[in-house]
Amino acid sequence: MRRRGRRYGRHGGRQLTVLHLPDGSIFFVLALMFAMLLAGRSLAGLQMEHALAPAMFGVSIVIDAGHGGWDPGMVGSSSEEKEINLAVAKALAEYCRAAGAAVSLTREGDTALADSKREDMEARVALCTAAEADIFISLHCNSYPADSSQHGAQVFYRQGNTAGETLAGILQNALQEELANTDRSALPHSASYLLEQLDIAAVICEMGFLSHAEEEALLVSSAYQWQLAWTLFCGLVDYLAQTETAEQSLACAFPPVPAVQAQSGSVRQIFPFAAGYRGQPARLG
Ligand SMILES: [Zn+2]
Repeated sequence: MRRRGRRYGRHGGRQLTVLHLPDGSIFFVLALMFAMLLAGRSLAGLQMEHALAPAMFGVSIVIDAGHGGWDPGMVGSSSEEKEINLAVAKALAEYCRAAGAAVSLTREGDTALADSKREDMEARVALCTAAEADIFISLHCNSYPADSSQHGAQVFYRQGNTAGETLAGILQNALQEELANTDRSALPHSASYLLEQLDIAAVICEMGFLSHAEEEALLVSSAYQWQLAWTLFCGLVDYLAQTETAEQSLACAFPPVPAVQAQSGSVRQIFPFAAGYRGQPARLG
């Protein structure tokens, strides 16, 4: 994909680079950089070749909380889809921002983007264009009251959008392996205005079924919403790692931010080597 590894200035960052070094030498470089910081010297003074960047540095991601305002989306026995979508979108944004991504949320509150569905959809696409998005992920919840046994997350892409198909497959794998709430497969979606309009890595994630009692109870819980966000974040990291050059993947191995403050007030470890990455997944019966 078109990784913007050289576009640091856009996000206000400084161009930080490291030398080609044998394995293990990164610790020496980090120690040197830290010593220079202590000495009050600018890292920009280092003339080096490659970026030392967190896993998503230089990537523009639009996270779309589906529906909002006058449009609640699917309605469960005690929930509205729009609220769950927004909660997971905000959590996912927090993880991605901590990993260095430029993140745009299509909405940050309970508001639609326009008074009609068509204009609302057009506004979401326009936001992608304005953000020069590399990745678009639209979060939704499903419902199928005619068969309340249906459950499980599923990711959709547009047929012919190779990047979208790749991303959808990786996210679906993450949902199967990390969250373990689904045996569904990623599928093409032929009736989505958003996916039709976007040529970037664009997907819709239906996070579960509000018509399934157990799954609805999970989807409205803050803990499960953060698990969902974490799982999708891991999938996005996997996608970037699989579509990057080796030198950029090397940079991805050394994220500098160890933790973020979660909405609950607790500190969450957010990187793969941190506790919790392989934590107990929520399982449905
Ligand atoms: Zn929806």
